[in-house]
Amino acid sequence: MRMSTYDAIIIGAGHNGLAAAVHLAAKGWKVAVVEQAQEPGGAVKTREVTLPGFKHDLFAMNLSLFAGSPFFAAYKNKLFANGMGIVGATDTFSSAFPDGTWLGVNNDLDVTAKRIATFSPRDAEAWRTMVADFAKDAPHIFALLGSAMPSWGSAKALWGAYRAKGMAGVGELAKLVLSSPREFLDANFENDKLKVMMACWGMHLDFSPDVAGGALFPYLESMANQSFGMALGQGGAATMINALVATLKSLGGEVHLGRAVERIETSGDQATGVRLAGGEVLSARRAVIANAHPKLVFGRLLVADNTRAAFDAKVAAFRAGPGTMMIHLALSGLPDWTAGEELKKFAYVHLAPTFGTMVAAYAQASSGLLPKEPVLVVGQPTALDPSRAPEGKHVLWIQVRVLPAMIRGDAANEITATDWDAVKELYAERVLKLIEHYAPGFSSKILGKAVFSPLDLERENPNLIGGDSLSGSHHLDQNFVFRPVFGWSRYKTPVKSLYICGASTWPGAGVGAGSGFMLAKMLAGAP
Ligand SMILES: Cc1cc2nc3c(=O)[nH]c(=O)nc-3n(C[C@H](O)[C@H](O)[C@H](O)COP(=O)(O)OP(=O)(O)OC[C@H]3O[C@@H](n4cnc5c(N)ncnc54)[C@H](O)[C@@H]3O)c2cc1C
Repeated sequence: MRMSTYDAIIIGAGHNGLAAAVHLAAKGWKVAVVEQAQEPGGAVKTREVTLPGFKHDLFAMNLSLFAGSPFFAAYKNKLFANGMGIVGATDTFSSAFPDGTWLGVNNDLDVTAKRIATFSPRDAEAWRTMVADFAKDAPHIFALLGSAMPSWGSAKALWGAYRAKGMAGVGELAKLVLSSPREFLDANFENDKLKVMMACWGMHLDFSPDVAGGALFPYLESMANQSFGMALGQGGAATMINALVATLKSLGGEVHLGRAVERIETSGDQATGVRLAGGEVLSARRAVIANAHPKLVFGRLLVADNTRAAFDAKVAAFRAGPGTMMIHLALSGLPDWTAGEELKKFAYVHLAPTFGTMVAAYAQASSGLLPKEPVLVVGQPTALDPSRAPEGKHVLWIQVRVLPAMIRGDAANEITATDWDAVKELYAERVLKLIEHYAPGFSSKILGKAVFSPLDLERENPNLIGGDSLSGSHHLDQNFVFRPVFGWSRYKTPVKSLYICGASTWPGAGVGAGSGFMLAKMLAGAP
């Protein structure tokens, strides 16, 4: 049996694994990334899944977290040299309402404030104040999010916030972190449409309006989109993955595709390498890094070990967030939104008209029911990047939030099947009808369709257990120092030389490359 030896072997070519590999290779480590799928990227892939010439971001579309990340700041020259392209959106996110109104955030503060003022002049002023405060608070918040948890870095970030804002300011920050979206939004604004527009971001994670700890993401996304705009990948989100792979190769690293790791090899209490499907063993002198979900690592890839029983039990209890479905459409034209032609310019149009819609969808999905009216994130990437479709044509990226992994019934009492393969096209019809309601004539523009159920998402990427786009709920008991297991939030594991990074670890889901970069810096010695 052939055996190769590396300094580090990374299991999984998600963007976190690739970011870790790039940094270690840049520091002179000999690294290999092994990926079970035939293409790299994990939850960031672009593929022609409907018709030739229509490029769809299968999963993540919004690359703002990556474009704003410390990893990108460190490696952007190399990434651009290796083909990465970014398209900036000034019309970022919006909400359309059934009464024919809409609200959205343009990168120009005056434009947004003017729109908010049509609903509430007082809220327009409150928005301006929040944006101004964000400029002062952002360095502290991003320092915290960009530090291992806990660490000197995170303590320093809190100390910096205390020095700049005093105890009352740190108290406000703590309150923001603990609040539900509704609590935070009610405390700051009076207009329901503005609150709903912001609260939709909570549903990208698993924060329906009343879940504690859910205020931070709507706040950050709203303020960041206002302040910096939104970033998409030129030609598709895979531009980022292709550039990471090319950068890694230029630094001497290797990427092995279509090679599933079946076993993490150990000697005593130490990880020594990986065994691939087919039996080939790759040895690691210094580190085995799993960019794989902890449940896969400790439930499947390692031999059970009694000395680890308590830790393994905690990993087994790590909860998934609700499932997601993706519907990709090839269109002859963008939807004609009743609420206004201007909506055609936005990267995202959220369809979730009230807090009640979000609460109901979340409660139904959590109880195993297909939501009667799901929350929809409608992405219009070709509004900003026409290169993704043949001339004059468009793609639509529809994320359905939120859905059960296992179906127990239908809140609308229409669909009787309970397995996703039988349900997905039926449920997609409900989603398309909902869009038709906001954009009459939309269905007649559909040229091609591809539906990915929660089960299909897991088939594409085993880290998305039950179609959970977050690789683990982000509720407070699984976030910060609790992600994925209290006492093990700094990427180490009870197995020596075995490290874990990725969306299941701090700072969680999203394409910020945070865990991969922080882990690699720890291993290689910062900076
Ligand atoms: C539908 C959807 C939409 C999203 N939209 C956005 C968005 O717009 N913006 C945003 O910031 N975030 C978004 N996210 C979240 C974001 O995409 C993910 O959190 C992020 O990409 C996770 O990256 P990762 O590197 O941690 O792991 P992953 O991308 O999950 O990669 C892990 C890799 O490990 C591989 N692997 C697992 N086990 C093995 C094994 N045994 N052997 C070999 N390989 C293995 C997997 O095949 C996978 O390729 C979205 C996610 C989904 C699912």
